[in-house]
Amino acid sequence: MIGFRLLIGFHTCFSEYYPVTFRVLITGVAGFLGSHLADRLLGEGFSVIGVDNLSTGTLENLAHLANEQRFCFEEHDICLPFDPGQVDYVFNLASPASPPEYLRLAIETLRVGSAGTENTLEIARKSGAAYLHASTSECYGDPLEHPQSESYWGNVNPVGPRSVYDEAKRYAEALVMAYHRSRSVDTRLVRIFNTYGPRLLPSDGRVISNFMMQAVRGEPLTVYGSGNQTRSFCYVDDLIEGILLLSRSNEHLPVNLGNPTEFSILECAQAVLEATNSKSRLQFESLPEDDPTRRCPDIAKARTLLGWEPKIPLKEGLARSLSFFRSKVLVGPGA
Ligand code: NAD
Ligand code: UDP
Repeated sequence: MIGFRLLIGFHTCFSEYYPVTFRVLITGVAGFLGSHLADRLLGEGFSVIGVDNLSTGTLENLAHLANEQRFCFEEHDICLPFDPGQVDYVFNLASPASPPEYLRLAIETLRVGSAGTENTLEIARKSGAAYLHASTSECYGDPLEHPQSESYWGNVNPVGPRSVYDEAKRYAEALVMAYHRSRSVDTRLVRIFNTYGPRLLPSDGRVISNFMMQAVRGEPLTVYGSGNQTRSFCYVDDLIEGILLLSRSNEHLPVNLGNPTEFSILECAQAVLEATNSKSRLQFESLPEDDPTRRCPDIAKARTLLGWEPKIPLKEGLARSLSFFRSKVLVGPGA
């Protein structure tokens, strides 16, 4: 164990005896998706070793696991080598994911996609563990093909501001495939499209968290550009189900997971106003550079391969998320 630090309230990874249960390593466990994945795997009886450097995640997302015997947490930057002991599965989710955050953490984002991902692949190789990497629809850039299927190679600006995320994720995909082909690691790649739900950091700047927080506070909803750009929004429970199905499949090439119902950002704002019963107005602001014009997953591969498709429409997902965002208003903006 190199450089691991015990956090009061959580079990350390080596203070407990883990008998015969399957041991899973999740990087980025204090983030939005990582914390939901941990809940789901613990619910299925696995032991979870969670690692996070808390750069965009928060221990609040794990507070309910403080007394969970099968969960341990270590604060650690995965760009520095670490040894979690023998593990059976590695889920590599660590990376800033929100555009304002990966622009703020530009070099760190490139490092976690490269050095960080390589460190986790080495852990899987040494343990003989299976491996799943969280990739992104951002690999398609501002797509010229619509909807986007896995066979599309994308339209990415390699030197624009978003390149720190897009190219880190594209490099990570290449690295994962190289470890599969040259080092026989049993890998999987999921290309995640915009996913939302409780535990999205209210202040991290993504569209659903921004709109929900603005609506419940009665502030204007900040629409960037004309609002005619599109995204496809997947509720977190649907995505986690897809990730688990993929983790148990034998597919090594990328698989899209996301909700194929496409909304303009204006339609998304309207859906948030209805879900929150808010009278907030829209406030138009400038469009960030290289903001993709449209985004919609072709999920034919996931349907055929995994028998998966999302079940929760945007209206229902926003309703399910409302109490979380309301609770964050009560405790203030930095929460
Ligand atoms: P998040 O920011 O909530 O979670 C990411 C977590 O990784 C955070 O807790 C952060 O502290 C941690 N982290 C970052 N760098 C680290 C490092 N060097 N070492 C250790 N921990 C580190 O984001 P999220 O939405 O939960 O995304 C999780 C993963 O899924 C990311 O890899 C992201 O790129 C991918 N993804 C998410 C979405 C989405 O819509 N949520 C879409 C596409 C891809
Ligand atoms: N967006 C917006 N207002 C906001 C935040 C985001 O109009 O307050 C837009 C953003 O420009 C983009 C879309 O919503 O077109 C989705 O942005 P997000 O940051 O959630 O993720 P992206 O898909 O761009 O990575």
